[in-house]
Amino acid sequence: MSIVADRMTRISPSQTIVISTRARALKAEGRDIISLSAGEPDFRTPQNIASAAIAAIEAGQTRYTDVAGTPELRRAVAERFRLDSGLDYKPEEIIVSTGGKQVIYNAMMATLNPGDEAIIPAPCWVSYPDIVTLAEGVPVIVPCRRENGFRLTAEELEAAITPRTKWFFLNSPCNPTGVAYSAEDLRPLCDVLLRHPHVWIFTDDIYAKLAYDGFRPATFVEVEPRLRERTVTMNGVSKAYAMTGWRIGFSGAPVAVTKAMNTLQGQSTSNPCSIAQAAALEALTGPQDFIGEMVSVYQARRDLVVSMLNQAQGMQCDTPQGAFYVFPNIEACLGKTSPGGRLMATDEDFVGALLEEEGVAAVHGSAFMYPGYLRISYATDTESLREACTRIQRFCAGVN
Ligand code: PLP
Repeated sequence: MSIVADRMTRISPSQTIVISTRARALKAEGRDIISLSAGEPDFRTPQNIASAAIAAIEAGQTRYTDVAGTPELRRAVAERFRLDSGLDYKPEEIIVSTGGKQVIYNAMMATLNPGDEAIIPAPCWVSYPDIVTLAEGVPVIVPCRRENGFRLTAEELEAAITPRTKWFFLNSPCNPTGVAYSAEDLRPLCDVLLRHPHVWIFTDDIYAKLAYDGFRPATFVEVEPRLRERTVTMNGVSKAYAMTGWRIGFSGAPVAVTKAMNTLQGQSTSNPCSIAQAAALEALTGPQDFIGEMVSVYQARRDLVVSMLNQAQGMQCDTPQGAFYVFPNIEACLGKTSPGGRLMATDEDFVGALLEEEGVAAVHGSAFMYPGYLRISYATDTESLREACTRIQRFCAGVN
């Protein structure tokens, strides 16, 4: 009998972690590697937030808190939802967890029965399908067409809904495409969802503050308040406040689901780190100008990367509205040979050859359920980005 449970055969290690690990190994061998594979800001956590954490330690805030997070932090989350999107959540409808990832995990574990379906538009973040599978649900992957700007259409959503559908996931701005949905984009999806009252909505808004050219990503409940009673609105501090390591995410959702998530969290991790909660409180209630400064840097980098990648032979790169990723098409390079003589049948081969031959780490589209593409993170300093794009151009020019 194996020590490892059967359920572990149904999920796989995150592909992004696999690539980052290979990139680190090459770096350790002394190779000059530029990693564009990680999904985290290169900015430091702002000093006022770090100082709040130090003050919390010194004040002895080092004990267990309420499982769902301190009352102060839950109130601050509710206030942020109100200020940012006009959403009205009571503190008992808020749960704070160890990252947005745990919010997703808790929500799925607390609600899915075996065979329940979760609709996931692709390209999608690597963890959604595996979390749904772990919770014994069935991920229903719906590919979004590039011609539609990688956005799910109302018809595609309608066609994917069955009597077994329990969840519909939407991530805007999206990891890996950077594509975001405005209020007008969400309206037709809301109309479909109103016709199917058994479907719950999980909206992952973790990149909502990272949007460019004045684009304002919308969230379901503000566009259609009638969906409030079956929506989990998730957000967190990882991306917007450069706090990936602090592990704080949260959601607003009806009491029944929040309570179930709370019970699950109480029997697994208990409260998220008390010190990180104090830092998150400062992030949500302190000065917000840091975000605007970070957004202008990201926007300039996005423009640089899109322009340079479109000059690479065989690549086509659209300009996304948010997050810190671009998702160029590389199909013209597939079935061909890399400059170093490697056959590139798949996007994964392309990524492997690019890493070995030019020292640039990116993630293949198939990791996001969307083959033929590449995810490039521009959460890296501008000089490295320029150098990486020059190397990509050189690589692509040598493909034959
Ligand atoms: N959702 C998306 C789309 C993400 O890209 C990530 C992180 O990469 C998360 C959720 C989880 O964020 P965290 O657990 O760091 O809050």
